[in-house]
Amino acid sequence: MNVHDTEKMFGVLKNIGYSNTDNPGKADLIIFNTCSIRQKAEQKFYSELGRIKSYKKNRPNLRIAVAGCIAQREGKKIIKKASYVDFVFGPQNIHKLADFISSSNGTVAVSDNPYLALIDLPVQREAGVRAWVTIMYGCNNFCSYCVVPYTRGREKSRPSEHIYAEVSEIAEKGYKEITLLGQNVNSYQSDLNFPGLLKKLNRVGGIERIRFVTSHPKDLSPELADAIAELSKVCENIHLPLQSGSDNILKLMNRVYSYDIYRDKVILLREKVPGISITSDIIAGFPGETEEDHIRTTDALKEMQFDGIFAFKFSTRPGTAAAKIEGHLPENVKSERLAEILSLQDDITLRRNLLLENTQQEILIEGISDTDKSRLAGRTRTNKIVTIPETDKLRGAIIKVEIKKARKHSLEGIRLT
Ligand code: SAM
Ligand code: SF4
Repeated sequence: MNVHDTEKMFGVLKNIGYSNTDNPGKADLIIFNTCSIRQKAEQKFYSELGRIKSYKKNRPNLRIAVAGCIAQREGKKIIKKASYVDFVFGPQNIHKLADFISSSNGTVAVSDNPYLALIDLPVQREAGVRAWVTIMYGCNNFCSYCVVPYTRGREKSRPSEHIYAEVSEIAEKGYKEITLLGQNVNSYQSDLNFPGLLKKLNRVGGIERIRFVTSHPKDLSPELADAIAELSKVCENIHLPLQSGSDNILKLMNRVYSYDIYRDKVILLREKVPGISITSDIIAGFPGETEEDHIRTTDALKEMQFDGIFAFKFSTRPGTAAAKIEGHLPENVKSERLAEILSLQDDITLRRNLLLENTQQEILIEGISDTDKSRLAGRTRTNKIVTIPETDKLRGAIIKVEIKKARKHSLEGIRLT
């Protein structure tokens, strides 16, 4: 989401004559687009901010801005801590970036923007085959550990016509795949609900694949499972964060589902969409988590057989409900539990990938592989990376491959068509 917000900032800046540079020493403007989801992200930002201070000595006209969720939470405290920061603005105020640049230093813009979903920002995307598209902003769920509802405000869905127009424009520019973005896409609601929006976007010519993140399990409906099964462009892949396998912990997290409810949704998805890949998020060491709760999580991973997970140690976010829950666990316990979760899932991911050896898959070629310049990389509809031993100009093509070797993070294949 932050990467895409940065593309919006580039879009606004391009309109007023800026271009980007990889060299901060040459920049007229440096914007930190920050994340505050975990403490580590905040620490990284403050150390980077300290490092950039010296650039101002050499370039007195350089302006430094802080955007994103830390900007939203800390506001003018950032300028108090680092007086060389010129302005601060939150994720709901990107549309005013050009004004901040032309006004005097010291601006702090962190107000709620009730019109956010109605503003179509220019987006400067990197050339490629995949594009992000925001469909909704904010979150209403208040999971007890999470800062997002405090930094990105309440849910606001963009009108489906605006999204349709943006996706049509993206298709005209040659992108083949879109990923729809929202904290909880299943609660998208404008004139259409989320399955209705998927149906509408499935009609955009030129777009071959549609993905979306993230889905909250509580709102995953049979109608959505049907839409994934029936709509030709919607890929057989869903990110469905479980967070914990223990009902006690899910309750403390305010996730509003039990593990049984989650399991039923996964069963429904696998019934309706054969071959669907499911990935998830897990938090290790939530306050009050007992060894038994942790075992419920590892048991859930064994039972669910996810294609992959993102797992994180619980990180206390000041101001959230979980910060006040009793029984915060020592770092070493959180680390041990996280390591156990990751190692268990590594084995499961590899086993899932091995099932694909000797099968035929359709991949969308994204370009030269990051890890091996003699190969091309693409993704299956289920979002698995496949490399093939070619360097042809196939970017953007959908080709058939046979999987020859499965690894934990990628598959190796050969081209069939
Ligand atoms: N909206 C998505 C959902 O509810 O599934 C997730 C959004 S959040 C940006 C991504 C992931 O970060 C969450 O699923 C959760 O696992 C993790 N996360 C959020 N707050 C956290 C915290 N305080 N400590 C550790 N992990 C956290
Ligand atoms: Fe955070 Fe929960 Fe909202 Fe996801 S659904 S952004 S975890 S509050």
